[in-house]
Amino acid sequence: MARPPAPAFAAARALAHSACPCGSARPLAACCGRWHEGPLHLQAPDAAQLMRSRYSAYVLGLTDYLRRTWHPSTCPAELDTDPAVRWLGLQVRSARTPEPGRAEVEFVARSRLGGRGHRLHETSRFVSEDADGTGVRWWYVDGTLHAGG
Ligand SMILES: [Zn+2]
Repeated sequence: MARPPAPAFAAARALAHSACPCGSARPLAACCGRWHEGPLHLQAPDAAQLMRSRYSAYVLGLTDYLRRTWHPSTCPAELDTDPAVRWLGLQVRSARTPEPGRAEVEFVARSRLGGRGHRLHETSRFVSEDADGTGVRWWYVDGTLHAGG
């Protein structure tokens, strides 16, 4: 028996034809939404697209997706999105593959909480491997914050 969709997915589905939160200018359903659910669930083909889909998941409150794309070795036990945070935009600065199966994505994500703007400038590390027995795919591992800029 099919489970009813989680409320967050229902909300995301209602936005399927809206512009994707990641800023690609494509509809959500043709961008990050493909990896959030459906036949291509969790199948973001490279680290940059996984990065974008995780940003969109933060915007949409898709906690389960964040957990399923966070490497088991570093995924926090408590993982929740804060509905009070308003995400304002994502800018992917660069994506590189230092060696096969590893990638780094530098990005700036802007948000607002309680009237205060916040700018997150991070280089995230990703690996491509079979970390949960469901096949090889990309995972977020951890990130380094860039102070000041
Ligand atoms: Zn997107």
